[in-house]
Amino acid sequence: MDAIVKNFPAQGQESSQDQARPSQAEAEEAVRVLLRWAGDDPTREGLLDTPTRVAKAYRELFAGYDQSYQEVLGRTFEEMSGFDDIVLVRDIPFFSHCEHHMLPIKGMATVAYLPNGPVLGLSKIARVIEIFGRRLQTQENMTAQIANAIQDTLKPRGVAVLIEAEHMCMEMRGVQKQGSRTLTTTFTGEFKTNATEQARFFTLARNR
Ligand SMILES: [Zn+2]
Repeated sequence: MDAIVKNFPAQGQESSQDQARPSQAEAEEAVRVLLRWAGDDPTREGLLDTPTRVAKAYRELFAGYDQSYQEVLGRTFEEMSGFDDIVLVRDIPFFSHCEHHMLPIKGMATVAYLPNGPVLGLSKIARVIEIFGRRLQTQENMTAQIANAIQDTLKPRGVAVLIEAEHMCMEMRGVQKQGSRTLTTTFTGEFKTNATEQARFFTLARNR
């Protein structure tokens, strides 16, 4: 998945972000500071290569900043004249990080749309989720961003997105509510205005 999405850099976005970006050496130094802040010694043998590994991992975990949904979804879609019923992809697993603590979010996304002529390749929905997942997020924003990206490019009759996720910042610290899940939804078009379509979405999404 990672190798595939890297073929789609965001046009005109990457260069300005790279200019603002610190160097790899600066990023590694920041990790050494955090290691000392945690109470450890960055010069001990087991931690010597850790700053390099963390900097590399961040490039991968936050690769979504270098990618745009317009590039991944493209402008041309597969025509499937006649098929206008709900297309639903259920339980697509993803990882993200919360923007408040930079701790992992582990979740599943279910995405549906009502075609208005063209349809999306099914793998593209998973890639859109990756683009927004590999950024610092709130679950609410990520849900809306996925729905709006598909609505903007494909222009279907409606989009529905349901995300169910566990937040490590809730599970590992503070109140330690282990196993609690947060559900968020975003509806556009007919999924928003038509109660029957919305109910059908929930039936398909939750029927396991
Ligand atoms: Zn958090």
